[in-house]
Amino acid sequence: MDDIISLCKRRGIIFQGSDIYGGLAGTWDWGPLGVVLKRNVMQTWWRYFVERRTNMYGVDAAIIMNPKVWVASGHAATFADPMVEDMVNHRRYRADHLLKDADIEADDGMSDAELTKLIADNGIKSPDGNPLGAVKRFNMMFRTTVGATESDDAVAYLRPETAQGIFTNYKNVVDTVYPAVPFGIAQQGKAFRNEISPRDFIFRSREFEQMEIEYFVHPDKWEEAFEHWHDEVHNFLEKEIGLPADMIHDYEVPEKDRAHYSDRTIDVEFDYPIGREELMGIAYRTDFDLRNIERATGKSMEYRPKDGSEPFVPHVIEPSFGVERLIMAILTACYQTDEVGGSQRKVLKLPKSLAPIQVTVSPLLKNKSELVGKAREIYDSLISAMPGKVSWDDSGNIGKRYRKADEIGVPHCVVVDFDTLTDNAVTVRDRDTTQQERIAIDKLAKYLAK
Ligand code: ATP
Repeated sequence: MDDIISLCKRRGIIFQGSDIYGGLAGTWDWGPLGVVLKRNVMQTWWRYFVERRTNMYGVDAAIIMNPKVWVASGHAATFADPMVEDMVNHRRYRADHLLKDADIEADDGMSDAELTKLIADNGIKSPDGNPLGAVKRFNMMFRTTVGATESDDAVAYLRPETAQGIFTNYKNVVDTVYPAVPFGIAQQGKAFRNEISPRDFIFRSREFEQMEIEYFVHPDKWEEAFEHWHDEVHNFLEKEIGLPADMIHDYEVPEKDRAHYSDRTIDVEFDYPIGREELMGIAYRTDFDLRNIERATGKSMEYRPKDGSEPFVPHVIEPSFGVERLIMAILTACYQTDEVGGSQRKVLKLPKSLAPIQVTVSPLLKNKSELVGKAREIYDSLISAMPGKVSWDDSGNIGKRYRKADEIGVPHCVVVDFDTLTDNAVTVRDRDTTQQERIAIDKLAKYLAK
């Protein structure tokens, strides 16, 4: 984990949020390379789950929604984690995390009294060695006020999940694009949770990004849809993103641990450096959300099939991804140490399509103007052929440049040397094999694109 955090900071992938002011716990900023990596991951997801399908529609809803949404969805009443306070210094912790750190697994369904007893029975102290108070619930939604007044009726919340932005637009989508059930609505965007103890780098943040699908099906068809999305999720993680299948595990969440809205959940877990933890979840949300909207608004959420058959309120399968947890899985799987020419190297073996920089161009020596001029010419032409994917590097010696390129996962390095001036060809080095090939300049763009 330390290696990954250090790589991210050193190479401009992820920085602590508000770093220069001493940071703000649970927030992270994406640097020049990170912003491209994140965008590539999100685009790959969108292409796989939305664009290549005929029955998927996208929305981009507002982050601040009418507070009635969170009352109807159950979040106002139940979206809370168990919190416990150090009786001496008043620092607050998640009760289940302190128990987990002591190798005691608490059920998600345990009451505050049961957790308090479990902590007392096992003599659990705060990380500073002080006694702990009774467990209380802490609602994780961030509050804000809308408009110029700060009265109670101006209170609103930053969305804790993107899902409700989809459910509130279900009727809008049905009434404007007339989709045939089954169909899905997808959304990517920020979610906010006031986590009691954000930790483990970007794994548990207070501001993060979700990629969610609500897939609307006939109530009789939920089981096959669940299996379909379960397969698709594995396919995406293993084939599209390239995560090793043996690091991915399904956890069938028992009823007592499931979220209040779910009748079946599989958590897809990953072997992170911090242990096996949830990467994403697939939940069968039944008609819970659409029925809540009906109750709260008095509007019917019934779907009327075009063939005139019986109207029904659709049931929902929800595959829900966190961008940060997916990127942390990618970094975990791809950051490797191998041996090249008898010495160790650090290499980020990102799938080529995700690499923030696809190719670096450099002159063998930076003080030889004829090499620099030729390399610049090639760099400029590649930039117009592959915008945003090419980087210039003339720092240090060529060995150092290769090491840096390997560490940030650049699939190809192009080097202009003295032979280039006579044979009009360059050396192209492959990140994974470290093999070097001689490629004619006029064939270079095509070669790299391939
Ligand atoms: P956990 O049990 O780890 O807190 P959760 O079950 O509450 O997660 P969901 O409500 O199912 O998470 O959210 C869907 C996805 O959003 C998660 O699988 C995860 O990828 C992501 N996610 C949730 N909370 C966070 C967070 N605090 N930081 C980063 N990603 C998160």
